[in-house]
Parts: sequence; C-alpha cells; structure tokens
Amino acid sequence: MASGETIPRAATVRATQATEARTRLPIADHRESVVVHEIYASIQGESSWAGVPCTFVRLTGCNLRCHWCDTPAAFYGGQRRRIDDVVKDALSHETPLVEVTGGEPLLQRGTPLLLRRLADAGVTVLIETSGERPIEALDSRVIRILDLKAPGSGESARNRWSNIDHLRPRDEVKFVLASPEDLDWAAEVMARFTLAKRVAAVLLSPVHGVLDPQWLVSEVLRRRLPARVNLQLHKYIWGATAEGV
Ligand code: SF4
Repeated sequence: MASGETIPRAATVRATQATEARTRLPIADHRESVVVHEIYASIQGESSWAGVPCTFVRLTGCNLRCHWCDTPAAFYGGQRRRIDDVVKDALSHETPLVEVTGGEPLLQRGTPLLLRRLADAGVTVLIETSGERPIEALDSRVIRILDLKAPGSGESARNRWSNIDHLRPRDEVKFVLASPEDLDWAAEVMARFTLAKRVAAVLLSPVHGVLDPQWLVSEVLRRRLPARVNLQLHKYIWGATAEGV
C-alpha cells in the first residue's frame, strides 16, 4: 500500500460532504442508493476465499487514513447509483462470490440494503470493513471480514472493539501488519479475544513490500499462532499497483 499521506480529519469531513453534495437524489433516497467507485470481476485475492472468482463492488469514501492504504483512489469521486442498478451490474458477472468493499462501505446509508439484495439473489456476499462502524445490524447471511487496525496503520485508536462481540462463526478477522511490533499487537489481541474460536479465519497480512512474508511465516510457526498467513494474491498476479483487478 502506497499512501503514507496523512490527511487532516477536517479535510476528510469536507470531502465526504462534497461527495454528498454532488449527488442528485433527494436525501430520502440515499438509503436506496450508494456512491460507487468501481464494479469489476476478478478472483478474490485475500481471506479464506482467495482464488475464488469474485465480483467487487467498491464504494467511495473512507473516514480513516491508514499509512499503507492501497485504495486511496476510492476516497473521493464515484457515482451515486440506485441499489437495483448496482445489484444488476454485480450479478451480470455471474461469479459465485460478491464482495462489497471500499474505502469504508459502512459509511453509506444504502450499504445494508445493498448487502441484503445481493444475498437475496443467492450469491455468497462478503463485506470488508475497517470495523470503525458498527456491524451488528447487517444481514445475517453476509460474511463480515473485519480489519482490525494495528498500530502501524496509524488508525489503531479507531477500532470499535464492541464489534468483536458481534462476530459469527462464518466471519473472518484480518490484521494488516507493517512491522514485528504489529505482529506482537495482533497476537495479543488474538489471545485476549480468543479470536480463532470466534471466526472462520484469523488472517495475518503483511504489507506488500514492507514486511517480509518469510519472516511472518516463521513467526506464525514459532509462536504457534492460530492464524493463516494472508498474501494479496492479486498483487502477485498483476503487480502491486494495478487497480480494478
Ligand atoms: S480503512 Fe481501508 S480504505 Fe480506509 S484508509 Fe484504511 S486501508 Fe484505506
């Protein structure tokens, strides 16, 4: 992930307001629409679903600024589209898996309805979220991938710890790790919340080009951590900076 840029929170708020101001739908319709950055089919690059054909619905906007973020292009812009239109577009790729991601998808009021409509269509639905927003009200058919922010992200204070109580057996927890200190932190969180017993997978993801995956594997083995090493498959196939793949 590339952006080490720190953007003041006030600027973030102004950008979000600007995105909302660009929309042409009345406020009441925002629960039936979302601002979309891109929709595309590829393979799932991460999680226990890695390698499975997947359509990504990437929504615009994020209220965090992780130092290693690899999707800063999704912070701004996008197009407000009605949920029915987004679902139709996502299903047109005919993949068994659809992931709603961002940015931070739970910032948008229309996202819960989008998730429900996708699940109604019979596909397996994932949502990847920073976990800064509450997850408990989401449709029970949706698999939540909760990214807990380690200190190296610069956003660790934004973790909403109460979300852990709402994780279910099919959900997954991901830690993106930029340093050995981040792994120490993740191991402590895993133990404190017995995460491996709560969810389908605990994912340890080294920041691409920053933390050596070989070192991470050796540490997982040495410490006997109940987790799986999560490499971003798409970056090995298409390169670290490719977008929309
Ligand atoms: S929460 Fe995700 S999209 Fe937002 S800054 Fe962090 S990595 Fe980027």
